[in-house]
Amino acid sequence: SVSPLGHVLIPIVNKLQDIFAQLGTSSTIELPQVAVVGSQSSGKSSVLEALVGRDFLPRGSDICTRRPLLLQLVRTADGTEEEYGEFLHLPGKKFFDFSEIRREIQAETEKEAGGNKGVSDKQIRLKIYSPSVLDITLVDLPGITKVPVDDQPSDIEARIRTMILSYIKQPSCLILAVTPANSYLVNSDALQIAGNADPNGDRTIGVITKLDIMDRGTDARDLLLGKVISLRLGYVGVVNRSQEDIMLNRSIKDALASEENFFRSHNVYNGLVDRCGIPQLAKKLNLILVQHIQKVLPELKSHINSELYSVSKEYASYGEIIESKVDQGSLLLNILSKYSKAFSSMVEGKNEEMLTS
Ligand code: GDP
Ligand code: MG
Repeated sequence: SVSPLGHVLIPIVNKLQDIFAQLGTSSTIELPQVAVVGSQSSGKSSVLEALVGRDFLPRGSDICTRRPLLLQLVRTADGTEEEYGEFLHLPGKKFFDFSEIRREIQAETEKEAGGNKGVSDKQIRLKIYSPSVLDITLVDLPGITKVPVDDQPSDIEARIRTMILSYIKQPSCLILAVTPANSYLVNSDALQIAGNADPNGDRTIGVITKLDIMDRGTDARDLLLGKVISLRLGYVGVVNRSQEDIMLNRSIKDALASEENFFRSHNVYNGLVDRCGIPQLAKKLNLILVQHIQKVLPELKSHINSELYSVSKEYASYGEIIESKVDQGSLLLNILSKYSKAFSSMVEGKNEEMLTS
């Protein structure tokens, strides 16, 4: 299963990373982290799961995400189709059953944050290995709550805000600010906290969930067009699985199909194709990642250049010829230049060209 998130980028990034690996250079492409923020039950975990294309996160109408989950996607290149998860706290144990991953997240959450509704800032770290993912880190965060319930401390809101900010204030973190369509955008916790960390909106994408359960007679058109609150990188509206879908075990694949159907059958979203649906959100993220790669390529080039230079000097002092290494290096630089150009055309929207070459 290929995740929507990796759809466009995987072939290119993978090729580059293979080349780096072959040459044994210490340079590599590091993609920024992506974190979801918003109020409790706004649909953060649902959005992340849909992007990854696998079912494994606790979701529900109650507070489910009670510890930050650092989810590292790791691409495997050993030729197998195997996909599995591994937790940092259970080294060596491979989880092939993704519902078992969810149960382990729940158990581990309870261990640290209690069986009730407590929250802890201690991370759970999970790696998912798959041949069809990008090497990227996603962060699922507890939602912002206002009123302490059960054994939550009275300063729960401040604690959660501090925890969220510690992730999203990092300048390289992309923020998915999730607001449900059936609440007022002007009251959005997500946009508020994202605005604190990223006042210029350079790295915040607005995500409007629950378009399917808006009040009859209302729609999210103005929200998506940025007419209510404008956002530099804009908004994407999505329809995730409802609680009923979760209880009926509906698959992500089914959910994506019915999302598509939703947008097709609601005329009000005609003409907003680029702002509607999980695949579009993935596309938007991909585009931002491509722009990021483009930005770091020149730096990588000069890094590789100086690496080559020092290697050749070292070998020269032993009187050895290392032509092959230098040849490989210039080959890499050529390839990088080629990709650099290809990325430019990708950013301009000519994706297909890139994928077939
Ligand atoms: P989180 O607390 O922000 O991580 O939210 P979850 O992803 O756990 O979702 C909270 C609840 O809202 C779950 O019961 C989901 O099934 C439901 N939900 C999330 N997104 C949507 C949506 O787009 N439409 C509908 N109908 N329900 C949704
Ligand atoms: Mg959650």
